[in-house]
Amino acid sequence: MNIPFSPPDISDIELNEVIDTLKSGWLTTGPKTKLFENKIAQYTGTSMGVCLNSATAAMELTLRLLGVGEGDEVITSAYTYTATASVIEHVGAKIVLVDTKKNSFHVDYEQLEKAITPRTKAIIPVDIAGVMCDYEKLFEIANKMRGLFNPSNKLQKALGRIIIIADAAHSFGATYKGKRSGSLADFTCFSFHAVKNITTGEGGAVTWRDIPGIDNQEIYNHFMLLSLHGQSKDALAKTKLGGWEYDIIIPAYKCNMTDIMASLGLGQLQRYPELLERRKQIIKMYDKAVKQAGIEVMEHYTDEYSSSGHLYLTRIPIKNESLRNVLIEKMAKRGIATNVHYKPLPMHTAYKKLGFQINDFPNAFDMYRNEVSLPLHTQLKDEDVEYVINNFLEILKESIYHYVT
Ligand SMILES: *Cc1c(COP(=O)(O)O)cnc(C)c1O
Repeated sequence: MNIPFSPPDISDIELNEVIDTLKSGWLTTGPKTKLFENKIAQYTGTSMGVCLNSATAAMELTLRLLGVGEGDEVITSAYTYTATASVIEHVGAKIVLVDTKKNSFHVDYEQLEKAITPRTKAIIPVDIAGVMCDYEKLFEIANKMRGLFNPSNKLQKALGRIIIIADAAHSFGATYKGKRSGSLADFTCFSFHAVKNITTGEGGAVTWRDIPGIDNQEIYNHFMLLSLHGQSKDALAKTKLGGWEYDIIIPAYKCNMTDIMASLGLGQLQRYPELLERRKQIIKMYDKAVKQAGIEVMEHYTDEYSSSGHLYLTRIPIKNESLRNVLIEKMAKRGIATNVHYKPLPMHTAYKKLGFQINDFPNAFDMYRNEVSLPLHTQLKDEDVEYVINNFLEILKESIYHYVT
């Protein structure tokens, strides 16, 4: 048996889309990227979308677009992947990490509120595993703390409060109270990295909610400038006969999506409803078996929200890192790839150097030390899921026996 953790699911639909692009004579940002942007906006229920080369770029450019930088603070969860926090450092702002709520993989909203200062410009909530954060609560906090907010440019003034930028690397297709991820936060950043639910190899996108008094086209154009050298015309516009001339408006960055990537994404998006449905079936199978065995898991589907089913995080009944790691090795010996999401940021060298200590994040540490993520992807057959469950429960039983005796 060989059960990988999260291989991409590529069908003839994607292959044909990519071949079509390769034969078209246009490989970089062009008609396919624009079409993918429109489809993403349509799918998420927003006015516009921008495609970039990663979620990291999407988050960083969003902070730059908003003029967040030196002297500002941005709050995020200690329980996430480094990209969520590193972008704050990239733009020169201060990273403020908040612990998770006890027994939750999501940030603690009470502690988050207490972390707000007059320097706070944005919050980056993380829709971990595809389960969306409580956006009603987040906006309630941002609105309540309006008085502390010090806007320093037109966009910040128009928003008039702390800005909510979702790290939605996991939550494309998820819903919260009937609304799709992408249409809830002020800005939402998606990842199409190879291990994510929907992939373009590497890739990302950002969508945003309409902002009163701000022209969406202006935001779009600003993203275009930031992502393509600050150049007044993109490559396609420059190829128009006689249209060589351009200006450089800002010495900006380079993180545009190519049409090859976008065509892969267009194929994936066509199949996405089926892919989401298959993820749901697998989660239901896991839930049934795992909950019976007394293992804690996240709820992916409730009356309030529906997850994108990106990761299956479990909390085994052994609160011990090294025994958890032995269990992971034993699973690997039986051909099953598992993973840990996440080692909290304060445990990594880079964040220790910034002065963070895991002792200050006891809830995040508590979530991490017995977390095991099971394989979850659309190549899994029912027999594979059963094989994972049987081996997981068997190995766990052995481990608990050794743990208590
Ligand atoms: C994958 C991931 C990212 C980064 O996405 P890229 O597209 O690789 O930049 C950010 N945040 C989380 C939570 C992720 O899992």
